[in-house]
Amino acid sequence: MESIKTLHGVGPERAKVFEKKGIKTVNDLLYYFPRTHEDRTHFTDIKESVVGEFVCFSVTVYSPIRESRIRKNLTLYQMTVFDESGSMNVVWYNNRFLKGAFLTGENVLLFGKVTLSGSKKVLQNPIYEKPKKQHFIGRIVPIYPLSGNLSQKIIATLMEEALEKVGTISEYMPKTILQKYGIADINFAMKNIHFPSKIEDYNFARKRFVFEELLFLRLALLSRRESNTKKERMPFENIDCVKSFIDSLPFSLTNAQKRVVDEIMEDVKKRVPMNRLIEGDVGSGKTVVAAAAMYVAVKNGYQSVIMAPTEILANQHFETFNKLFENTDLKIALLTKSTKNKQKVLEQIKNGEYQIIVGTNAVIQDKVLYNNLGLTITDEQHRFGVSQRAKLNEKGDNPNTIIMTATPIPRTLSLILYGDLDISIIDELPPGRKPAQTFAVDEKMRKRVYAFLEKNVKAGMQGYVVCPLIEESETEDLANAESVCKTLKNLFPNFNIGLIHGKMKADEKDTVMQEFLDKNIDILVSTTVIEVGVNVPNSNIMIIENAERFGLATLHQLRGRVGRGCEQSYCIMFCNSDNEITKKRMETLCKSNDGFYISEEDLKLRGPGDFFGTRQHGLPEMKIANLFSDRDILALADKVAEDIATKKENLTLEEEKILFGYAEKAIPDSIILN
Ligand code: ADP
Ligand code: MG
Repeated sequence: MESIKTLHGVGPERAKVFEKKGIKTVNDLLYYFPRTHEDRTHFTDIKESVVGEFVCFSVTVYSPIRESRIRKNLTLYQMTVFDESGSMNVVWYNNRFLKGAFLTGENVLLFGKVTLSGSKKVLQNPIYEKPKKQHFIGRIVPIYPLSGNLSQKIIATLMEEALEKVGTISEYMPKTILQKYGIADINFAMKNIHFPSKIEDYNFARKRFVFEELLFLRLALLSRRESNTKKERMPFENIDCVKSFIDSLPFSLTNAQKRVVDEIMEDVKKRVPMNRLIEGDVGSGKTVVAAAAMYVAVKNGYQSVIMAPTEILANQHFETFNKLFENTDLKIALLTKSTKNKQKVLEQIKNGEYQIIVGTNAVIQDKVLYNNLGLTITDEQHRFGVSQRAKLNEKGDNPNTIIMTATPIPRTLSLILYGDLDISIIDELPPGRKPAQTFAVDEKMRKRVYAFLEKNVKAGMQGYVVCPLIEESETEDLANAESVCKTLKNLFPNFNIGLIHGKMKADEKDTVMQEFLDKNIDILVSTTVIEVGVNVPNSNIMIIENAERFGLATLHQLRGRVGRGCEQSYCIMFCNSDNEITKKRMETLCKSNDGFYISEEDLKLRGPGDFFGTRQHGLPEMKIANLFSDRDILALADKVAEDIATKKENLTLEEEKILFGYAEKAIPDSIILN
């Protein structure tokens, strides 16, 4: 494979930027697909052009570039152009390369936004090209996700070079399958995913890569399932002991919890290791189900470990388990980055003195050795990668596995995506819970919202204020945790206002969270670090700033932080957007408290090409497929994968080998596999 450095214009610096995106070879670059395309095939004349719109012009230079220095850091470069319909000015800022770039009478192509200066049309900062050498004007132009100092122009230029350099790509999908299902071959697809001359060609190309991505995913899952069923372990003998644990609880389990505990018990009796996903909305009580399973593991002579994504959450689980197992002889270890006497704790884990281990990803470090690990649990699975979960399981001898997630995904999708797992759903909240009343409001309501917050805090409750960014950013006018914290301190000098965000060290975060739990903090301003699992029953109000910035699944998760006690709780979302889709999204949250429904709506309301935030769903992050809008292709890929695995497609051994090889390499890191 040729290094990306063999392309003109990729030096060591640029190579580094690409490497950060996982692009090392020319071939890798080809698979860096555009996020969308912009149709720049339509030319207008100056007279017809509409102010505020982006348009292409083919014009003649009337007067070449004039340079005028406005102030120290601002120099204007202007020229006048004309066509048959009229003339207009073109302006660029601080681009000294433009001096002498155009000659009077020369034909140029321009693409940019038409604005008004007084009553005259002006084209600001347009892209320019000379006819016959055009790449970015007069055609459908790819728009790539940017990073570093890469520009669209740089990437597209490199992409053209890469396509040329690679020449003909050899096809890795069996021809029979391409023909049978009307899928584009790789060479057509590769050219047209980047540089289509018609949008239909792009769609056809895209379908190929979507199909390919989903097929590989399904093939990978099928081969995992195959190898999973070949694993063996000792069944747990003593299942009845779970009753005494359940009887010791201060509450009775919900029917959904009971059902899931039963499903787990059926699994651990078997000779094949359990491989189960527990899906349950925030607050549905997954922890106690996990505890029941761990209890049974210990009573059968095994160690059991639970891995949580944050230190705060690990601490909270540790406390919860200490309470739940208060009247037993179980010994519980807490293993995180901040664990004191780590050497000793590790020793006691290794020699089996601790039977239950609660921790962060510290529990998968190489130096942690277990003593007969029989059950592993991953909480909030979408926060971990495949390799982390795999590492956890390698700590034991085919241990039973539970994976927990609070981000419900539509059932149709979970069947396909989690095809190698058994699924348990906790679709019932413990009794007495009142769902948070949710409101979407705009700036005009701010005073009233703060008054309401004040009223609740005065009544002894606590509140959260969640912000999307940590530091003030100049380019984006977003509320941010630090300045919101200042504002609230000024507004409520008698309240204790705390701040917690992702850039703080783990022990700092812990201290703040502990203060909040101890009611020393009345209002906690935070970024989304509180999203995951933390439980403070006395907090009943949450204000979310710039709610339009969050995915619905995240907002639903966040709101799950309140309403954990018996007081009525409230979630108030500031949303400063008139966008119709955003409004619909907010409405969905205001009227529903059903995580499954919300996640379905969320996927529906994201258009194709809307790539952000699949992580929030716990869905695998796909390169090009949209799991909702591409569900027809997903169904097809599912069928074809099944047919391949059961030899119905009549592929040659060589063809199968190539496919499964690609499949194994193409697994997204965020998919649940064991
Ligand atoms: P999640 O599913 O979001 O992880 P938790 O396990 O943290 O939810 O449970 C949320 C709260 O509900 C905890 O305080 C827990 O003690 C309580 N809880 C769990 N199950 C029940 C139940 N059956 N009855 C009453 N309270 C319960
Ligand atoms: Mg939880």
